[in-house]
This record gives sequence, structure tokens and C-alpha cells, in this order.
Amino acid sequence: MEFESILLPGVDARRPLIIAGPCSAETEEQVMNTARGLAAHGIKIFRAGIWKPRTKPGGFEGVGVEGLPWLKRVKTELGMYTAVEVATAKHVREALAHDVDILWIGARTSANPFAVQEIADALEGIDIPVFIKNPVNPDLDLWIGAIERVYNAGIRRIAAIHRGFSTYDKKIYRNLPQWHIPIELHRQIPNLPIICDPSHIGGKRELIAPLCQQAMDLNFDGLIIESHCHPDKAWSDAAQQVTPDVLDLILNNIVIRDMTQSTESLNALRHQIDELDTSLLELLARRMRVSDEIGIYKKEHNMPILQAQRYDEILKNRIAQAIEMDMDGEFMKTVLVAIHEESVRHQQEIMKQ
Ligand code: PEP
Ligand code: MN
Repeated sequence: MEFESILLPGVDARRPLIIAGPCSAETEEQVMNTARGLAAHGIKIFRAGIWKPRTKPGGFEGVGVEGLPWLKRVKTELGMYTAVEVATAKHVREALAHDVDILWIGARTSANPFAVQEIADALEGIDIPVFIKNPVNPDLDLWIGAIERVYNAGIRRIAAIHRGFSTYDKKIYRNLPQWHIPIELHRQIPNLPIICDPSHIGGKRELIAPLCQQAMDLNFDGLIIESHCHPDKAWSDAAQQVTPDVLDLILNNIVIRDMTQSTESLNALRHQIDELDTSLLELLARRMRVSDEIGIYKKEHNMPILQAQRYDEILKNRIAQAIEMDMDGEFMKTVLVAIHEESVRHQQEIMKQ
């Protein structure tokens, strides 16, 4: 695929490209206040959700077309570009009728080839940048498929947005970054710009800054960040939005490293380590929870905490497994003893309750 530049006139060509704005347009006042705050910090591209895909019915589903003239005001009064999520052909037509500059396809939509095709058909013959979020499930081919559908409609200004992948288990992130997936996307389609959405990956404000830095260290091209004039009062995604001032602080603290091919692959490896460590931590936390349940069982059945035979078996089997997996037996013993000690300490606490 041959792409054209997604840069718009007047937008800084240096990395990262920044898109910011509220999760949702709520009122004209909220849109204008947020946009003014962002424009004052030099942000040139304003995002706002007009139609919101919500997990359950009955919540705030976006203001709909009523909000599009507010975005037009952002353009005319503040000279910003506007970006909106579209999920149907009707959304495309309405956004275009209000001079929206950039369209993006959301994560729930890009998981559905019928919906993406409908949007692609509506884009036929139109020249507008289209950004495509990864599908909610970690399926790289589905993501690439969505990109191809839009490309086949004649769109050449395309970028991918990495917003993380949903999981069922308890986790640190709202959506797991699984950095290896956008890294693999870049390997397969090297000339496709990739933008990171730390707001939807993290789900909480304090994760935005470290995620932005990680994305920049991985040589991402841009960042799309949710910003609201009163984040705590936001009608959607309140926990992950920041004020324009906080956003400015976050952006000013990002270190843009000089990327060469060799550091890029080193960083990619380091991010794999970070991700593996996160998985290890999550597994350990799960193991502790199961061990706590065993503690409760033992208490209820009046059983002793330490059952020497079971412990000996665990040590022997796991060390043998570790050796088979090319790890040192002594090292594995140290790790297992430490984990076991902590489980025993937990179970002792449970017995005391
Ligand atoms: C959004 O950008 O507000 C949004 C709904 O994101 P996603 O499609 O990534 O969930
Ligand atoms: Mn959101």
C-alpha cells in the first residue's frame, strides 16, 4: 500500500503529531472551553466523540449531529482542525457536511468488517484522512483488514491508532497495550503512521505520561489524548481525561529520543520485557488469590497451613520443569521458596481473622 502524508497545513511536522480533545462533545460551552485551552497551548487538532459506542444501553450515547456545529465553531473561531469518530455511513455523511477534517474508526467498529465496509463505501471518491483504531480484540489481521478496506475505497491519508486490547482479567491497564502488535503492524506496513491513544490504554490519568513516553520510545508518529476542561465532570471516560494545562505539562515532559535502527530494536525488546514483567506480576497476583482461597478452605476445615509433602512435591516438580525449560534449578528454587513463604504468610493472616 502507498500512503500519502497525514500532515495538514500549519501542523508541526515534528514527531509527535498531537490530537487532543474530550472523549465526548457534551455542550457547546464545554467544547469551546476545552478547545480554547488546547489552542492556547498550540494544539492544532481537536478530537471529540459525537456518537458514542457504549457498552450498555441507557448511558450517554453522544450528543449526535447537534454537536457538529460546535466543532465547526472550533474550526472557524480557533483555526483548529477537527476529528470525529464515525461508525456508520450516515455518520460519515454528517461529519463531512460539517467540514470535519479527520475521521476515525473506533475499536468496536474496526472489529466488524461489515461496519468498516459500509464506512469505506461511504468514503468512495472522498479525500480525507482516516485513522483506524485497532479492533478491541488482539487480532492484527482484522486491524490490517480494516485498513485495507479503507485503502481500497481510495483513501490514501491513513494512520493506525493503537488503543490497547480488552481482557477479562483484573489488570493495571483498561486495555492491555500488547506493544508487540503495533510493532508487528509497523514491520508489515512500514510506511503507515501509527498514533498511540494512551487515554484508552491506561484508563486512568496517571498512566498517560508513562504511556506517551513508551509510545515515543517505540517511534510512534503521534498521540491522541483525551482532554476536558473539567475532567471529573466528564459525561464519559472521566477517570482518563486531563485538563489542557495538565496535557501541556505531560507533552512538555516527553523525551523524544534520537531514533536509530539499532535503538529502535533495543527499545522494542525492552518493551517486550516490560510486558512480560506485567504478565508475571498479574500471574503472581492471581496465584496469591488462589492461595488465599486455599487458606480459607484450610481454616474452614481446620487443616494445618503447612503440608510438607505437598510443598516437597511442588519444589521437586517445578525445579525439574524449569531445568527442562533451560533455567537454572537453584535459581528456580530461590523463586519458588520466596513465593511459598509469601503464600504461607498470607494464609497465617487468614487463620488469625
Ligand atoms: C474514544 O476515542 O473515545 C473511543 C470510544 O475510543 P475506542 O474506540 O478506542 O474505545
Ligand atoms: Mn473515550
